[in-house]
Amino acid sequence: MTERELLIKGLEQICPKVYPQTVDNFLKFSDMLLEKNKVMNLTAVTEPMEVISRHFLDCAMIAPDIISEEKVIDIGTGAGFPGLPLAILCEDTQFVLIDALRKRIDFLNEVISELGLKNVTAIHARAEELKERQSFSAAVSRAVADLSVLSELTLPLVKVGGKFIAMKAQDCKDEVSKATKAIEILGGTKPVIKTYTVVQSDIVRAKVEIQKIKDTPSKYPRRFAKISASPPVSYTHLTLPTT
Ligand code: SAM
Repeated sequence: MTERELLIKGLEQICPKVYPQTVDNFLKFSDMLLEKNKVMNLTAVTEPMEVISRHFLDCAMIAPDIISEEKVIDIGTGAGFPGLPLAILCEDTQFVLIDALRKRIDFLNEVISELGLKNVTAIHARAEELKERQSFSAAVSRAVADLSVLSELTLPLVKVGGKFIAMKAQDCKDEVSKATKAIEILGGTKPVIKTYTVVQSDIVRAKVEIQKIKDTPSKYPRRFAKISASPPVSYTHLTLPTT
């Protein structure tokens, strides 16, 4: 099977219609990724067929969850995952891809320009320093940080009524349960884990879905050193010492 065939077969299992332009865009992105990866650390995946399954189809699996969203942010996008495959597939959704490493954002801007994508912007920024508070209808993220850290980077940016989808390894149950209290403090619901097998592969992954139901208290996000040192804490359950 060729990369094109694998991509088409996979996308057909996810999307109602797969356009030739969409497939061409993915293949151009793959070529640029593998070429740039020779001189810059973008991905550990170096086989073209693996780029299709481990990156493109894995990310495409969450397209049905965000296709009707208005404005989506991808936190710690790296070489564009999951945000760029989603932007290629969901033309009517606006995407903002952010990463703390400028070189990766420069690469993404080259890809965006080469593909002529109009619905995506790549910005060099740290998530915890962004000023766009509660302004995205959804946030996505893959392989960036432990869920309690990631939730503090992400949930402040999501509108009440919006959602956050974190793409995680299959065995994320402990990580998710440890983050549940922090997520509640940050305005999110109890996270729901859904496991899935990436189409045309035997790769099993998990998506963690969180709905934003309350404003995030203004003291979050804190500075990164504080975020990574300890999760948000609620003081409401603490008993004051009696004298
Ligand atoms: N999401 C991509 C993927 O799945 O291939 C990249 C994952 S890479 C392991 C993690 C990325 O998150 C890095 O590119 C790093 O620069 C970025 N990152 C880590 N902390 C960040 C922060 N606070 N704000 C923005 N980007 C961050």
